[in-house]
Amino acid sequence: NFGKPDYQAHAEEFEMLAKGAGAEVVATVMAKRDKPDAAYFIGSGKLEEAVLLAQSSDVDIILFDQALSPAQQRNLERAFNLRVVDRVALILDIFALRAKSHEGKLQVELAQLQHLMTRLTRMWTHLERQRGGIGMRGPGEAQLEMDKRMIGDKVKVLRERLSKVERQRTTQRRSRARGGTMSVSLVGYTNAGKSTLFNALTRAGAYAADQLFATLDTTTRRIWIEGAGQVVVSDTVGFIRDLPTTLIAAFKATLEETVQADLLLHVIDASSPQRDEQILEVNKVLEEIGAKDIPCILVYNKIDAVGYEPKIERNEEGRIVRVFVSALDRTGLDGLRGAIAEAKEKIGNNVASLKN
Ligand code: GDP
Repeated sequence: NFGKPDYQAHAEEFEMLAKGAGAEVVATVMAKRDKPDAAYFIGSGKLEEAVLLAQSSDVDIILFDQALSPAQQRNLERAFNLRVVDRVALILDIFALRAKSHEGKLQVELAQLQHLMTRLTRMWTHLERQRGGIGMRGPGEAQLEMDKRMIGDKVKVLRERLSKVERQRTTQRRSRARGGTMSVSLVGYTNAGKSTLFNALTRAGAYAADQLFATLDTTTRRIWIEGAGQVVVSDTVGFIRDLPTTLIAAFKATLEETVQADLLLHVIDASSPQRDEQILEVNKVLEEIGAKDIPCILVYNKIDAVGYEPKIERNEEGRIVRVFVSALDRTGLDGLRGAIAEAKEKIGNNVASLKN
């Protein structure tokens, strides 16, 4: 972690990511440098220490909490004589494990192929150089072209399938909008408690787990809220810092649900020491997907863990900006429902006109 202040917390989060991918963490090595090493990312001293540690423990794989260049990854694999996986590949792997819907699976596959594509060229270039290029140029180039074309074709097929699913989604959304139903999207940092809150609000059994990325696919349910009437609530994918850009692109369709919402509930883990950093990360993603102007209520969740009481906070204009709840204990939920109803009243007049 370069120049980042709370590397301890980042290390813990990374450990959770590793566990999410099914790894058992044997040892952690922290490296602090001003600038990553071009060849190995970490310095030679750290590398030696890590290699010795890996050799003395029963290690199968080395995980890096950073994005590695293909060259760095290759050099490290040689130094460790083990498979080396960087943060981007790890996150893609977890997404691949967790995707449940047809659309989610397509999106992950697309992101993985795109990630592979960027490495492929360099892999072949490297092979050619390694053998002095002699005798490799012809077949190497042909093979590279073939691999690229095959992946390119696959990417095209996936894109077409995805846009079909997207069109269906848009149709569904339109028919909802015509009914004047308000749509609410839960957004937030991974593990903030979105699924738990979604369940508490809708009393459905969506999957909630102490794992990063438990939710990959948007789940949508209709609920009735006193004073707001029919409301469609969507639980969306959790945001996390340094989300690979290929993933953001692949999940555009899923995130579009968020962009189209009338109201966002930004769920925050009030008990996390990193909560302010996490709020900023989520806001960054919201801006990236063009959702930053949607009315938003900050929902401070897990108040049971920090001993806060349920409450509602308003700004100077009297608009509700913060609601404190515990999704686990189901406290503060009436306040949240009231806040949704109030928001509907404020934006209600615009909903119908905006959607038509
Ligand atoms: P998501 O990734 O945002 O969907 O988060 P989840 O709903 O899967 O919850 C992540 C973890 O936080 C789970 O272990 C939940 O049981 C826990 N959690 C969720 N809400 C609360 C809460 O209000 N209080 C406490 N103490 N834990 C919570």
